Amino acid sequence: MPRPKFVADAMLGSLARKLRIFGFDTAYFREGDDEELEALARREKRTILTSDRPLFERSRGDRLRAYLVEGRTDRARLLSIQRQAASSMAFRMGRETASRCALCNGELEPLRRRDAASLPVPPKVLARHHLFYRCKVCARLYWHGRHWERLRRLSYSVKTKGLTPGQAAGPRSRRRGP
Ligand SMILES: [Zn+2]
Repeated sequence: MPRPKFVADAMLGSLARKLRIFGFDTAYFREGDDEELEALARREKRTILTSDRPLFERSRGDRLRAYLVEGRTDRARLLSIQRQAASSMAFRMGRETASRCALCNGELEPLRRRDAASLPVPPKVLARHHLFYRCKVCARLYWHGRHWERLRRLSYSVKTKGLTPGQAAGPRSRRRGP
């Protein structure tokens, strides 16, 4: 099953950045009206992520795939997505997936330390890390630092919590009626 692609509405910027780091192709809809957001979702086959209930219900009515994102923290929001996606099991998070650029959603390519040495990387970082990644689109550099470790722990905690049988079969994964 292909991994789901998302379009996050303007309120969910930090969630969109995390989803990219976790390897989900996630467009961020910064501005524009609901029709444009829906057109993008339809054109690129993206699932709409929104915490706006009227938009969510309208999108469902327009036969688009959409998740109502609930919660105040990104962790709660990720769990809310996972609950709704549980029936398809398509929303999987883990280490096995290549991350995408948090800024622009571009694909990352691995870079050896040797090649990173010619780039503006702080010497301390260069000494401590072996593997770097560069965004193919905006050229931003990434490495597995502390921030990355925090995100990895977050992804793991959401993953293990979301895969308990009680939640996978719970009422939240049921589709809303017409
Ligand atoms: Zn980028």
